[in-house]
Amino acid sequence: CGIAGYIGKQQAAPIILDGLSKLEYRGYDSAGIAVFDGQKIHMEKAVGRLRVLDEKINHGALLPGFCGIGHTRWATHGCPSDTNAHPHMNEEHTIAVVHNGIIENYEKLKQRLEKKGYRFVSETDTEVLAHMLTEYYRGDPVEAIEKVMHRVEGSYALGIMFLDHPHHIYAARKDSPLIVGINDTGKFIASDVPAILQYTRTVYYVENEEIVCLSNEHTRFCNIDGEPIEKQPVTIDWDI
Ligand code: GLU
Repeated sequence: CGIAGYIGKQQAAPIILDGLSKLEYRGYDSAGIAVFDGQKIHMEKAVGRLRVLDEKINHGALLPGFCGIGHTRWATHGCPSDTNAHPHMNEEHTIAVVHNGIIENYEKLKQRLEKKGYRFVSETDTEVLAHMLTEYYRGDPVEAIEKVMHRVEGSYALGIMFLDHPHHIYAARKDSPLIVGINDTGKFIASDVPAILQYTRTVYYVENEEIVCLSNEHTRFCNIDGEPIEKQPVTIDWDI
């Protein structure tokens, strides 16, 4: 039930693991992480405490890379298991998604996708998102995300990576919290401020039905019709 992501000059995995640990209060039954090493998106997941995942990837050392997304899951659809843990990827392993929330119309979407030949490996509602992004992707990640958002019902905070777009993290939300943080070394996404407070106090609050694109050069926001949104960061002046 938590999301953490990082893109920048530092190794992503240790920052993401640390961020997820600060979101433990939200509750979870499994955890996972995907890191882009510039060539491939590598993924590890583990049911149980975050410590299990942490040890599996040797505190991040086994998943090197400067761009990644992580998730702690509170199962709503499908039992807690390694397979059902997030991230979820498409068959080609070119798109990775973490999701907080519930896709209410996932059964209908899943049936349609299965008819078109998409093969599902998990029991989650979330997996439809990975396949829908694949279906709508024509080279522009934001456009694909817009199309998915127009078709899904329910609540979501999303972190997404595309193999075609190394060193980019995409995010979006509706009725589930999500923030963006920035500092001198890079950019963060998180479900809540405590996940990034140790790294930065400069935060953008992502509003409902907004899409975010983060790279070393850009921090971009737009609505679900692709229209740019100008946003000012706020400075967090409280401690935890
Ligand atoms: N509905 C999704 C699942 O069951 C996400 C749950 C969550 O917010 O952690 O996998």
